Amino acid sequence: MNPTVDGQLYGYTGKLLRVDLTKGEVNVEKVDPELLRKFLGGVGYGAKLYYDEVPAGIDPLSPQNKLIFTTGPLSGTRAPGAGFAEVCFKSPLGGIWAESKCGGEWGGALRKAGFDFLVIEGKAKEPKYILIDDGKVEIRPADKLKGETTSQKDKLIKEELKDASFENAVIGLAGEELVRFANIMVGGRAFGRCGPGAVMGSKNLLAIAVKGSGDIPVAKPARFKTAVKAGNKKVLDETAGEGWAPGGTTVEITQCDKLGDIPTKNWRANSWGKGEELYHHFESKNLMRAHACYRGCVLRCGRVVRVETGKWKTPEHEGSEYESICAFTFFVLNDDMDAAVHATYLCNEYGLDTISTGAVIAFAMDCYEQGMLDKKEVDGLDLSWGNTDTVVELVHRIGKRTGVGRILGEGVRRASQKIGKGSDLFAIEVKGLEGPAHDGRSGKALAIMYGTGNRGMCHIHALEGMAFDSLKNDFGLIPYGVPNPQTLERFAEEGKGRIAKVLQDFGILPDILGICKLYSYSGLVLPELAELISSLTGWDISEQELLDIGERVYNLQRVINVREGIGKADDQLPERVCKLPEFGLYSAVAECEIRNYEQMLEEYYEARGWNRETGIPTKEKLQQLGLSSFIVYPPSR
Ligand code: SF4
Repeated sequence: MNPTVDGQLYGYTGKLLRVDLTKGEVNVEKVDPELLRKFLGGVGYGAKLYYDEVPAGIDPLSPQNKLIFTTGPLSGTRAPGAGFAEVCFKSPLGGIWAESKCGGEWGGALRKAGFDFLVIEGKAKEPKYILIDDGKVEIRPADKLKGETTSQKDKLIKEELKDASFENAVIGLAGEELVRFANIMVGGRAFGRCGPGAVMGSKNLLAIAVKGSGDIPVAKPARFKTAVKAGNKKVLDETAGEGWAPGGTTVEITQCDKLGDIPTKNWRANSWGKGEELYHHFESKNLMRAHACYRGCVLRCGRVVRVETGKWKTPEHEGSEYESICAFTFFVLNDDMDAAVHATYLCNEYGLDTISTGAVIAFAMDCYEQGMLDKKEVDGLDLSWGNTDTVVELVHRIGKRTGVGRILGEGVRRASQKIGKGSDLFAIEVKGLEGPAHDGRSGKALAIMYGTGNRGMCHIHALEGMAFDSLKNDFGLIPYGVPNPQTLERFAEEGKGRIAKVLQDFGILPDILGICKLYSYSGLVLPELAELISSLTGWDISEQELLDIGERVYNLQRVINVREGIGKADDQLPERVCKLPEFGLYSAVAECEIRNYEQMLEEYYEARGWNRETGIPTKEKLQQLGLSSFIVYPPSR
């Protein structure tokens, strides 16, 4: 099969940039069009590169790990939501497959500079940053960036280059200090989860500055333009013309609290009853205006916020989305929204994943209350629930990796192993990744998707479960075997394993194609995606083929994890997240308890074509998906 159209590759630059920091070398490689046709891009092509280049068993913070930055074919085009890039790497938290996505202009700039993918390997002897200015690529000294905040690094690079139009992906002090959940910031947005900032820090790489002015070739320009227009119209129609502005995802706090969907007090409950009051404060005191993370977004979920006066005075910045705000309110029982906004701002400046930071602080507070950590072990701080001074102070200590921040910066799994005393019961994680701000007791599809997520307890590839059960969003998947959510009880368990499989295969598509997930929540589903990708590339890609590609990629990521020893035992949920909430609206709602997780898991394995005893994809399934060459374990398993 020759996947080019009249000898030309459309929708891609066709090039991969490789930077070896150990050797100080830069190379440009051609991308194989047949592999693009099979994996498309983003976390699909990224999984193929990872499988080939990141051996099993390596230390995630060693030079052998790689940072595989990927874009999708739609990234940087005029397609709806096209402002996304991904980074794939071995997770410092779970030692398995990891991916993080980031909205904004950085991914598009990389493509306009001439590259679909950027692979960074090795380790520099001294602090460095990478400059990509169209076709010009340099590894530059970064001594003067060391120890600076993320926003200051961004500013210093722009000053050095005398050009404010560079898009800079930077790590903060947390990444330099190898905090295992350090992120990579680009302006107010982040490659957030799983610790890519720690991997970047381990390579002595502090920033990647990108600017590009090229074009991405479009196979059928008039048809693509029509598809773009129709896609934007549909998502605006479905959101009453307003998109997600001005409150963005943060507005969901009120509804999710009522649904029993916000983990509260380190998952002891799933509602608090303070969602409405907290959002009212946010809307009236903190929220300044809506913001689009890249030029061309019509949904505009971004928020510019600040705390104008008082103890938690915080400058204007982009931040405080739903997950971050829940992590610093519900997770730790803090009802001071100004303190939460301040804490999320600090996370951005240190380069910390807000979800894991809030989660590890909640874990520490739980241990403190239960007498597993005493005052001496936490630097004399009072870790009582809701103590805002302590919450903010802990962000500083984790970011700088000082005092108790040294242990907490390891993430909840390792921190509980160090603390011992049964504290593992309070470590809410799957495959090493801390739980986010939706609760599987609000609807059981989410629960099974948390357990089986390839990167762990992930909101990105699990949230369709919550939207299906609680918001009754079918994502247009009824023709593909998903029942009408209106006909199903959200707390029901039977059937949710099968539904989860299809939701995952669909939900991974934005991360393969390089677009924003909020668009698929707002009506940009299979017909629109198939038309966009087909008119862009000139390939005739059907809706079913898109789902098949999603399934192929999901399985390849699972194979990568199997190679690291992942199996059924790792697909389990922490005990506490299955139990009846200890307090709140749902403490007497018996159906929200997760009673037969094992049955959902077996149903899921069967739908996936994986071995029911081990959770490993069968040889037949991999063959069916065109992944025969990726079989890495004895067929008898
Ligand atoms: S909806 Fe939000 S995250 Fe998505 S592209 Fe627009 S501003 Fe970015």
